[in-house]
Amino acid sequence: MKIGIYGGTFNPPHLGHLAAARAAVGALELDKLLLVPDAIPPHKPLPEGTPGPEHRLAMAEKMADALLMPGTAEASDIELRRAGKSFTADTLARVRGQYPDAQLWLLVGTDMFLTLHQWSRPEEILSLAGICAFGRAEGEDESLFSAQRDRLEGLYPGARVRVIPLPGVVDISSTRLRELLPRGEGREYLHPSVYGSILMHGLYGVRRNLKELELPELRACAYSMMREKRVAHVQGVEEEAARLARRWGADESMARRAGILHDCTKYLELEPQLALCRQYGVELDELERRAVKLLHAKTGACIARAVFGQPEQVCQAIFWHTTAREDMSLLEKILYVADYMEPNRNFDGVERLRRLAYADLDQALLAGVETTIQEMRERELPVHQSTLRARDWLLEQGVRIAED
Ligand code: ATP
Repeated sequence: MKIGIYGGTFNPPHLGHLAAARAAVGALELDKLLLVPDAIPPHKPLPEGTPGPEHRLAMAEKMADALLMPGTAEASDIELRRAGKSFTADTLARVRGQYPDAQLWLLVGTDMFLTLHQWSRPEEILSLAGICAFGRAEGEDESLFSAQRDRLEGLYPGARVRVIPLPGVVDISSTRLRELLPRGEGREYLHPSVYGSILMHGLYGVRRNLKELELPELRACAYSMMREKRVAHVQGVEEEAARLARRWGADESMARRAGILHDCTKYLELEPQLALCRQYGVELDELERRAVKLLHAKTGACIARAVFGQPEQVCQAIFWHTTAREDMSLLEKILYVADYMEPNRNFDGVERLRRLAYADLDQALLAGVETTIQEMRERELPVHQSTLRARDWLLEQGVRIAED
């Protein structure tokens, strides 16, 4: 087993860190990558205004999730939990204790690599782990790395040093980002979910009114509230809802907002969902109290309203996007149908639904509602009464699904 250990202050983690992590997993064929935010870096004090350890760990978790390597990349709090300075030798010894047979690799960018022989207990570091070094700015000469590799191999016989190329170096530092962020700049160097966390928690002097966010900021916040693997679906729903809004004459910006936020509480378990319902006074029926999948629509609407100040039509569209209901507004229909047939969806009948959505929105809605009812019956699960009422309402309106 090969394990990479990538330490840093990650204050905040940026696209340079991500590019390096991704390249190292590929080049070294790592089975595991630990992203280790340090508590007290030995070589540089944490600057004033550094977010608390819980925020730095959460951002490192977002960075791990952003790599989309489940089971491989993970954030580790071993240094944050350890008192005193965060010496790499201690961290490696700890990982070695946990994985006695693993091959360890310490990942370092140029600045760290060039000073490695001056760290505390370098001989221990080099005996415990190979060193994987990579550049962090354009134009860093190969000779820079080879001279240091020769030095380390000379000083510490048996040392393993690998220099890996970074396809697409991202020339940025956290220091620079801490200057840019309070001026409202630097977003392009951050993964959206990391930027979203910064906005949501007002880190690094970023003070934004969450109720007045433009679409890119709203996206970042929403993505910071979910696992990375869900983001493609949310992007698909936003784009599909925007297309449907243009086709059927609804407000495109509202459709986008509803799409962006519709699953923002989907990551929550039953208990926190119920707590949010209590907090925002959402009345639940017997079925809803048990079905976590039904709750996220309701709690998502509450968050869209209370935290992000979205207009009532947007909140209502989110509220009804799972069950549908009778008397649906145009925006409610659009979100429901977009969620059903966005480009990442793949089920029998999705193509027909896509055609219907642009030919006759009500027919597409009825097809979606009928599919849900049928699916629930096949799985012997109860169908929510709002869904049944939605179907009856559409049939009463004379809506019938045209044969292909
Ligand atoms: P600061 O500016 O606060 O010193 P930083 O941007 O250097 O922060 P750290 O968290 O200190 O980031 O770095 C962790 C590790 O990532 C180090 O090994 C560093 O060399 C490497 N690294 C930092 N920025 C980049 C980058 N843009 N590309 C590749 N590696 C990087």
